[in-house]
Amino acid sequence: MNTFLSSEQVQYQSTCQAFVDEKLCSQGIIKDLETSKEKQKEALSLISQSGLIGTSLPHEYGGGGKTFVYAAILAEQLGMKDAGLSLVLANHLSACHLIWRYGTDEQKSRYLPLLSRGESFATLAFGEEQAGSDFSLVQTSAESNKLNGKKAWVVNGDTAHVALVLARSSEQNQIWIVDLTSKSGVSVVKDRQKLGLKSASTTDIEFSSYALDEKSALCQAPEKVEEAIEYALSLSKVLLAAGALGICEQAIKYSVQRANQREQFGQTIGKFQAIQWKLADMSTETSAARLLTYRAAWSKDDAKDEFFKFAAMCKLFAARVARLYSGEAAQIYGTLGISEEEPMEKLYRDAKVIEVLEGTQEIQKNIVASQVGA
Ligand SMILES: Cc1cc2nc3c(=O)[nH]c(=O)nc-3n(C[C@H](O)[C@H](O)[C@H](O)COP(=O)(O)OP(=O)(O)OC[C@H]3O[C@@H](n4cnc5c(N)ncnc54)[C@H](O)[C@@H]3O)c2cc1C
Repeated sequence: MNTFLSSEQVQYQSTCQAFVDEKLCSQGIIKDLETSKEKQKEALSLISQSGLIGTSLPHEYGGGGKTFVYAAILAEQLGMKDAGLSLVLANHLSACHLIWRYGTDEQKSRYLPLLSRGESFATLAFGEEQAGSDFSLVQTSAESNKLNGKKAWVVNGDTAHVALVLARSSEQNQIWIVDLTSKSGVSVVKDRQKLGLKSASTTDIEFSSYALDEKSALCQAPEKVEEAIEYALSLSKVLLAAGALGICEQAIKYSVQRANQREQFGQTIGKFQAIQWKLADMSTETSAARLLTYRAAWSKDDAKDEFFKFAAMCKLFAARVARLYSGEAAQIYGTLGISEEEPMEKLYRDAKVIEVLEGTQEIQKNIVASQVGA
């Protein structure tokens, strides 16, 4: 399973797994994550203190100096227990890497050390009610150094300290680094309830004459804004795909257990070829999704020209595989597959949401098509 990871990466994977098991699972945090904001905050603070969160960020700004593959490893391990945590990590790290790549030296020194150490948390606030797939429709404005408008579906909008906000000024989009802890001009206006990934608190944020510091514009070259948006979303997609792998792994594990235990018509259901073929497809396509996802994570640092394409492909494929096979896992469980007493229904709900965010499946196809020259 790990032939493409180095021995150091395999070691890191074990460290992440131990953290998730010992800190998040055995202390009973995971089981209430969907419903308890308190537990969500507790999980966030444990992840922040784990020393794992900044592994893929640069040494000079307090990170571990490792590649983005390490971020994918952590996202996958979190996704094994709750893919909502992979989403939280995805937003945080995308914002961090965005600042690292496009920010000024002053912005990097100001924000990255705290974010790398998990002493503050970041998120992306790009989308709006009317601007989901099409960011040219963004209405939030940053005219005369005042930010006005409403960003929708912001992960951790109620707990993050820093948001990278997409806003329009002089008919052009810019990304602004915004302090969400500011007492004036920023408020959480709506708590979004959703089908899955419920452990990732998601809110709308409204800015009302929020005073922008001119130095907080991220991209010094305006022509870089489009690229920066795609870069942030690509980072996020890879980590979400890694979370989807976690879902697939769980679906396989539980399905095999059930197939070997449940008896009907005088034999365990795993003896039926119909069930065996589901397990074979699940395992095969999960392995393919894993190769694609880690290929994308690797290309972020080592094959930069291909990063956007592989990020779109891995999110498209891993999300589809997770949704399809968490559904098949539920099918193998029969009635218990749709029962809240068993984990299948949650895996299925989480996987469906991954198909929608950070660009829908259709948008990923558009990106892949344009990347291959169509
Ligand atoms: C749980 C969750 C968390 C999120 N977190 C964040 C966040 O932290 N920050 C943030 O900024 N946003 C966030 N979002 C927003 C998310 O990125 C958008 O919901 C997503 O991009 C879809 O936008 P939309 O709902 O407006 O769909 P629309 O753009 O209205 O699309 C509707 C349908 O039309 C299709 N479609 C649209 N355009 C095309 C096209 N050109 N070709 C083919 N089909 C097309 C879509 O695929 C989709 O099926 C989050 C969303 C969710 C659900």
